[in-house]
Amino acid sequence: MSDPVLDRLAVRFEELLPAGAVITDPVRLRTYECDGLTHHRAMPGIVVLPETAEQVAAAVRLCGEYGVPFVARGSGTGLSGGALPRTDGVLIVTSRMRRILEIDLPNRRAVVEPGVTNLAITEAVREQGYYYAPDPSSQQVCSIGGNVAENAGGAHCLKYGFTVNHILGLEIVTPDGEIVELSALDPGYDLLGAFVGSEGTLGIATKITVRLSRTPEAVTTLLAAFGSIEGGGEAVSAIIAAGIVPAAIEMMDALAVEAAEAAVGCAYPEGAGAVLIVELDGPRAEVEHQFAAVERICRETGAFEIRVAASAEERAAIWKGRKSAFAAVGRISPAYIVQDGVVPRTALPEVLAGIDRLQEEYGIRVANVFHAGDGNLHPLVLFDDAAPGEGERAATVSGRILDLCIEHGGSITGEHGVGVDKSRYMPKMFTEEDLDTMQLVRCAFDPRSLSNPGKVFPTPRLCGEVPGVRKGVHPLVESGRAEQF
Ligand SMILES: Cc1cc2nc3c(=O)[nH]c(=O)nc-3n(C[C@H](O)[C@H](O)[C@H](O)COP(=O)(O)OP(=O)(O)OC[C@H]3O[C@@H](n4cnc5c(N)ncnc54)[C@H](O)[C@@H]3O)c2cc1C
Repeated sequence: MSDPVLDRLAVRFEELLPAGAVITDPVRLRTYECDGLTHHRAMPGIVVLPETAEQVAAAVRLCGEYGVPFVARGSGTGLSGGALPRTDGVLIVTSRMRRILEIDLPNRRAVVEPGVTNLAITEAVREQGYYYAPDPSSQQVCSIGGNVAENAGGAHCLKYGFTVNHILGLEIVTPDGEIVELSALDPGYDLLGAFVGSEGTLGIATKITVRLSRTPEAVTTLLAAFGSIEGGGEAVSAIIAAGIVPAAIEMMDALAVEAAEAAVGCAYPEGAGAVLIVELDGPRAEVEHQFAAVERICRETGAFEIRVAASAEERAAIWKGRKSAFAAVGRISPAYIVQDGVVPRTALPEVLAGIDRLQEEYGIRVANVFHAGDGNLHPLVLFDDAAPGEGERAATVSGRILDLCIEHGGSITGEHGVGVDKSRYMPKMFTEEDLDTMQLVRCAFDPRSLSNPGKVFPTPRLCGEVPGVRKGVHPLVESGRAEQF
């Protein structure tokens, strides 16, 4: 159905942007109707593909002129519906902004455009002995702009920190279309820190300065198989208690291993109730010393088989099963929900036991994959979407897993963000006053609430309705679209 406001806006975009950068054809729009969270879908009103920060800024200013909301999108791999478009709005896609602008090895930094993929940064500096540390499993395709917006993590974030620890500067287009620089060196409020993880609600990142890390002298990867998940959990606690911070420490339960085996033939040890992958990196002498301790701890806590990668190929083989785990469950179940929650490491055994009880209570299988070192769980809730009621039961189990995380002092998201999917859980973690305070921050950047509205907050309100924010007629109210907010 044609929308006269969007029709006029599309004409203005055509005048402003290069040829082929404005999409209004319904068939082509469908490509953008969801991100990695495929059960939330909406056709964008218009898609634009700017090539420069100035074009992003101009597009955002035009949205403001027409009172139309906009949503940024990188590669669309997000798992919380953050890049879900708006039917009454504009999707601003950064896929044509893929230039690496500067590599500054003496200062260990690179300046890149937001559509550059995470892995492309490492590939650009690998030969010189550097890499970009945060490594989401989606790193071959996800964009650095999306990583910034989600404060993405990855297997190696236990030792090296999340995206926020590796961003030195940002150029952003504010929600009113101004181009602004934010730097980690700025005195005063940490606006750079506020922007990282803001899920597209505070504007659009158009240039990103990332920290580059030195490739470690030595890397050792070990796979340990345990009879039960408890044995693996005990090993994790003992390794950390020994003062060792591995680069990564990942765990998969028997069902996740079964799925990985079916999908990629990872050849993990047969009969394992849990598989632990521990990676140590750093100076060679330190790695060798720590490896001896980790191997001893794994044996003492009941590992029945330990494999050590002797080459880069063997290391890749160990990681293959883990890195493909999300997609792999598609081999053993017609449908599944990827959950993302966090608990204090010490609460892992209790929470996993709770997940077991939920499986029995609802007759739903859950495959567990987790960044064990930092208590970040990724339960994969399996269901048959053709079986009546099973999808609903799976959604209940998925929600109750988050309840368990909160009850144990954890969080409803470790790295996938709140987006549209988890906004309803925010009141379980935060009071109304907490949420109002967060909205004050949002309103300071975006008083007209045009930048990715309807995400993160459970009860989206116009900024004028948040205590402490100046009142005014919101553009969506003006245009009669406030009910879609
Ligand atoms: C198989 C698989 C494995 C994954 N593994 C991990 C993992 O290990 N760790 C992890 O953290 N995540 C993981 N993810 C989730 C996802 O890849 C990350 O959240 C990633 O950061 C999203 O990047 P993207 O470019 O796809 O962003 P999109 O999905 O396009 O967008 C995500 C959010 O960022 C906003 N956004 C995008 N670009 C910008 C910009 N330039 N400025 C401001 N806001 C912007 C969007 O509005 C949206 O809210 C995985 C996803 C998949 C499918």
